[in-house]
Amino acid sequence: MSAVAAAASSDLAPLPVFLIIDEFREAVVGDLPEDDLTGRLERRQYVIDRLKLDFSKDAARLAAQFATDGAVGDRLDAPTAGEWIRHNCKTTSSVAYDSINVGEQLHRLSKCADAVAAGEIGFAHLSVIARTAKALDGLRTEPAFAEDELLQRAKESSAGRLWHYCMRLRHALDPEGVAQEQRIAVEQRRLQFSVWDDGSVLVSGQLDPVGGAALRTALEPLAQPMGEGDDRCLERRQGDAIVELSLHSLDAGLVPQHASQRPHLQVTTTLETLQGFPGSPAADMEFSTPISAVTVQRLACDANVARVVFGPDSVVVDVGRAARVVSGSTRRALNVRDQHCRWPGCERTASWSAAHHVVHWTQGGRTDLSNLLLLCHRHHWMVHEGGWKLARSDDDRVLAIPPTYDYWRAPQLRLSSRE
Ligand SMILES: [Zn+2]
Ligand SMILES: [Zn+2]
Repeated sequence: MSAVAAAASSDLAPLPVFLIIDEFREAVVGDLPEDDLTGRLERRQYVIDRLKLDFSKDAARLAAQFATDGAVGDRLDAPTAGEWIRHNCKTTSSVAYDSINVGEQLHRLSKCADAVAAGEIGFAHLSVIARTAKALDGLRTEPAFAEDELLQRAKESSAGRLWHYCMRLRHALDPEGVAQEQRIAVEQRRLQFSVWDDGSVLVSGQLDPVGGAALRTALEPLAQPMGEGDDRCLERRQGDAIVELSLHSLDAGLVPQHASQRPHLQVTTTLETLQGFPGSPAADMEFSTPISAVTVQRLACDANVARVVFGPDSVVVDVGRAARVVSGSTRRALNVRDQHCRWPGCERTASWSAAHHVVHWTQGGRTDLSNLLLLCHRHHWMVHEGGWKLARSDDDRVLAIPPTYDYWRAPQLRLSSRE
């Protein structure tokens, strides 16, 4: 005998809801074998969608109470129905407000609701259609909103494709509404940096569709796999790409001058650190925590260097003229000879590459063509900080030799991107 049946057939107190749910969860996939994973997933999602449909109806009823009775908010201690749902149903604002919207639009989406109940479309489809219905609400251009047509589209496509179709439809029916939404999206652009304990910078933000597309278009060619042995995942490549774009903008003088100074990375270091002597202190960099000697050496490979003499109490007593390590004429000759990054298989162009000293100038290496190689930002990093070695073959090809030690690597993130 099931617990549900017992509750229904006796005068005992109702069973706690979790007992009913446990029974129900079993029953949902009870007729499917354990190893029918796809069948079980489909069945469970169908049940979730049915529950979401019911949830949206009640959510809209609560929203209606908030709208018509000012005392409801005080009694429930929440400013809006969405806020109450977010907090008490332990969900996000977008889920809460989306549910309310679906519930509010159901009166004109009865065929779509039936299709969810029949398992013909998902709740995700219904949510897209409800958002479109709401957006077209004020237009009063009946029959602009054609439920039949959208339902047919929903049956034939993924929720992502349906969303795309709805955006196009909306623009056809309401171009000013779409333009206004995109205006607001531009006003909502933001970018935030927060610094973690180890100095890493957490980047978060929001861009409008066009701004986001500009960033992605700029990063996309830089985020392609490059050279032999590149096994970085997409997220890592995009992270490298935005650093590369920033470094290139600084190197190429593309960033507007500020206070008559060309913006550049500024590092202050001792000669001992630059030479990598044991016991030497870390170097200081503006906007960063102290950086290691190997990073200083990479940056110094192809940089302007000025001598700064500090007196007692760290007072600067003399600043020499900044001199370019690799002179303009040497760099031009190097660009002509190498043309692009010399890492095997990498073709990042000369203007996106640095002049690398095979034997570093702080170790007595000469700054002439015999001791210089073009390396792009990523491969320059791999040689200085990543432990890779470069060698020349007999026919003057450059060979990249991986580090012999097993250095720690960050676990690779694999995130699914939205359709
Ligand atoms: Zn270098
Ligand atoms: Zn390269």
